Amino acid sequence: MRPCLVAILLFAVPFVARADEPWKAGAAAVVITPDQPLWMAGYASRDKPAEGKATDLFAKALVVEDPSGKRLAIITMDLISIPKAMRDHVVQAVREKHKLPPESIVLNCSHTHCGPVIRLGTYILYDLEESQRAAIEKYIAVLHEKLVSVVDQAVAHLEPAKLGYSHARAGFAMNRRLPTDKGYQNSPYPDGPVDQDVPVLRVVNAEGKLKAVLFGYACHNTTLSFFQFCGDYAGFAQQAFEESHPGTIALFFMGCGGDQNPYPRGTIELARQHGRTLATAIDAALLPEPQPVRPPLRTAFAEAALEFAPAPEREELVRLQQSSNKYEKRHAEVLLEQLKQDGKIRQEYPYPVQSIQFGKDLTMVTLGGETVVDYSLRIKKEVTGNPVWVAGYSNDVFGYIPSQRVLKEGGYEATGAMLYTSLPGPFALDVEDRIMSKVHELVRQVRE
Ligand SMILES: [Zn+2]
Repeated sequence: MRPCLVAILLFAVPFVARADEPWKAGAAAVVITPDQPLWMAGYASRDKPAEGKATDLFAKALVVEDPSGKRLAIITMDLISIPKAMRDHVVQAVREKHKLPPESIVLNCSHTHCGPVIRLGTYILYDLEESQRAAIEKYIAVLHEKLVSVVDQAVAHLEPAKLGYSHARAGFAMNRRLPTDKGYQNSPYPDGPVDQDVPVLRVVNAEGKLKAVLFGYACHNTTLSFFQFCGDYAGFAQQAFEESHPGTIALFFMGCGGDQNPYPRGTIELARQHGRTLATAIDAALLPEPQPVRPPLRTAFAEAALEFAPAPEREELVRLQQSSNKYEKRHAEVLLEQLKQDGKIRQEYPYPVQSIQFGKDLTMVTLGGETVVDYSLRIKKEVTGNPVWVAGYSNDVFGYIPSQRVLKEGGYEATGAMLYTSLPGPFALDVEDRIMSKVHELVRQVRE
């Protein structure tokens, strides 16, 4: 009998090991801090380039692979936005090299307002000298290659792993749309909606060592507005967690913080403090044994056609072209140029929506643009059955995405901010319906 038992044990061991570490996972980080004083993004009022750095900026990648070989890559960046060309570049390169189809690639930006300008389209906020534009173009080209190389490195680090989900809370995000007699103003509004959840995906290797955490929060990275490169609270949170867990990579996954600010704000001490608060929340989330997150992996990606409200007539644009408001004037010029070139002003925007399903254990939904908090609250209410993680600021970040409520209320996130883009103006009132029907369609698809 004895030899038989040995044989059974020998065969049983690899099977048990595979069941314990159902995934392969790898993470990597690269520094993307500009090495020269580029113009900084985030505020129209900036009047000079960066004066050094307070912290480095990073791009990071987490790649997971299920037992069938299906992969997911989540790329997070300490940057203001994601131009479509950036996603296109990464998707094309990574798809060819690593068997990663577009629906399995997520790009997400922290929206730090202390990063470089990375968009040089038809309309930018600043009057940049030619040398500055050339330096930014050069930076963008290097950045694109770094985003591909960080995925290369994460793939190279793939090792057997277990995933777990848990969450905690952090309280420094507050709604910033204060209702006043003069409309909604950008000020702390403690009675407005918030999503202070801190979702955490824990990655542990076969030896039980914590290798990576992906964590989310729905809040603008706007504690700071100075002239030094800095990851703001999200940068400090990643740094604090990595320092207290050596050998671990922490990736910040921005949520639907379009109408949320960190309060109080204004100093680097506060940014560091908010970062520590968030890192502490990750530790709190990891206290109970995280819920296992098991394969298989399923992913879906599609574009919802979002319509704009009717654009101003040509006569109105000609009038606005004479405006004393520099941004109103420039916006009108850009739209008139569009009319001249294309014979019409664009009516739609192809809006990226993505859904990721981990077995029966976790659903992620990613949305493009600066989504307001109503989206994460609504999606978490309507998509049930397992925990749901909603990320905004993903795949194409080009402007604010108001909910129907915010659109009707008006104010910066509904209308005002459109002045700083080449988009014709506010979205049509059905913007939320169009996004939500695409979300439900994709969630159904990955759960079939
Ligand atoms: Zn913003």
